[in-house]
Amino acid sequence: MTRFRHTNLDLDRGGSTSVRSSYFTALASPERPTAQGIDLFEIDDELPALVDVGPDSDNEQDQDKAVACDAELDVQYQQHKTTMVDLAKEPLANKPKEPTENVNKQWLREREVFLRQLLRLDGRGHYAHEGLCPVCDKEKPTVRCEDCHDRVLLCPGCTVDHHYSNPTHRVEYWNGTYFEPTTLKAHGLRIQLGHALDEHCVNPVPSPGDDFIIVDTNGIHAVSLNFCVCTTAQKDTIQLLRARLYPATVKSPQTAATFNVLEFFHLLTFDSKASAFEFYHALGRRTDNTGTVEISDRYEEFLRMVRQWRNLKMLKRAGRGHDPEGVDTTKEGQCAVLCPACPQPGKNLPQGWDATPEKSQFLFSLFLAEDANFRMVRKKVSSEAANPTMSAGLSYFVEISKYRAHLATYGDQKEV
Ligand SMILES: [Zn+2]
Ligand SMILES: [Zn+2]
Ligand SMILES: [Zn+2]
Repeated sequence: MTRFRHTNLDLDRGGSTSVRSSYFTALASPERPTAQGIDLFEIDDELPALVDVGPDSDNEQDQDKAVACDAELDVQYQQHKTTMVDLAKEPLANKPKEPTENVNKQWLREREVFLRQLLRLDGRGHYAHEGLCPVCDKEKPTVRCEDCHDRVLLCPGCTVDHHYSNPTHRVEYWNGTYFEPTTLKAHGLRIQLGHALDEHCVNPVPSPGDDFIIVDTNGIHAVSLNFCVCTTAQKDTIQLLRARLYPATVKSPQTAATFNVLEFFHLLTFDSKASAFEFYHALGRRTDNTGTVEISDRYEEFLRMVRQWRNLKMLKRAGRGHDPEGVDTTKEGQCAVLCPACPQPGKNLPQGWDATPEKSQFLFSLFLAEDANFRMVRKKVSSEAANPTMSAGLSYFVEISKYRAHLATYGDQKEV
C-alpha cells in the first residue's frame, strides 16, 4: 500500500490560484492486485464496468504463424489499428492467417514488367502512330497531361480546351525525341474568374503583370489569370475565393494557393513532422525536379496563407462565422476545444462518479502540470506592428497585452 498526495490546483479568471492537498491510499501498482491480495476495483466501489479487451495478440505462437511484413513491424500503424478495432468483433490480430507466398516475392518476378511500363509511359505509347489529334483531327498531337487520368496525346489547342476546369494540371510537349515540360499558360490557357465556365466575360482584365502564381498540391504554377470587371463583378479577392483560390494579399493579389493544397498541408501538420519549408520544397520538386528551371519563390506567401487559413478554419469550426455580431466579437477562449482527456462531468464521466469511495477518487481527478517550452522563443516576433496577432486569446494562448502587463509586475528574475 502506498499513500499518495493529490493536489487540486484551482485557477480563477483573475489568475489567482488556490491549492488543496488531500491524501489517499492506493496500491503501489494497479497491475499487481493479486500480489497485494486486494482488488482495487472492489464491488462496493460501484465503479462503472471497464470494457473487456480481447486477449493480447503478442503471444509467440501467433508470431510463428505469420512472417512479419513491413506493416506488422510498423509500431504507429499497429497502434492505430488497435485503437480502430471494433471490440465487439474478433480482434483482427487473432485471425488465423493462411500460409501464402510473400507478396514482395511475387512482385520480384514481375519487377521487370513494372519497370518497362514506367519506361513506356515516358514515351508516347500507342499514340506514337497517331498522325493527327484525335479530337480535332487537324493538328499534330504533341501535348499530353501528366495529371489527367487519360494519357491522350492532343494538339496544344485541344489540350487547352480540355483544361479550363483543371488549369493547374502539368503538361508536357513532345519535341520529336522526348517529352519536355511546358505549361498550359505557354499554350494559351487563361483562367477567367467571376463567371461560370460556360459564360463569356466581356470585361476581362489580366492580373498585374499577367504574372500570376498558383500553389497547388502538384506544384507551383505560372498561370494567366483574368479578373472580371463587369458591372456585376465582385472584388478580386472574392473572385479568387469563389474559385477556391486563396489570395496571398488583399490588395492586387498575384499569388494564390488552392484550397486543396491548404487543406492538405493543414492535415499533414496534424500527422507528420514535415515543416512548411520541406512541404513547399517538395512542391517545387514536383514542378521541376532537375533544378534547371526557375520556379517562383512564394514561400513567404505560402506561410502567410497557411497561417490565415488555420485562423479561418478555427473561427469557422467555433461557429464564429454565424454570429451576426461578426468575428471581432469573439471572446477570449471561445475558440478553444474542451480537452477530451480532462474529466468533464456530464460529458466523459460515468454516472455515479462523484459517489466513488475516496481511495478511488483519483480516477476522476483533474491533474494539472506545468511545463516550459524552450522553443517558443522561435515564435518571438519583432513587434505587434510587424506581425499582428490574429488570435488574441481566442484559444490556448492568453491575450498578449495582458500577458506582458502580468510579466511587467515581476521584472527580470535571475534563474536559479
Ligand atoms: Zn486538336
Ligand atoms: Zn490534365
Ligand atoms: Zn465579366
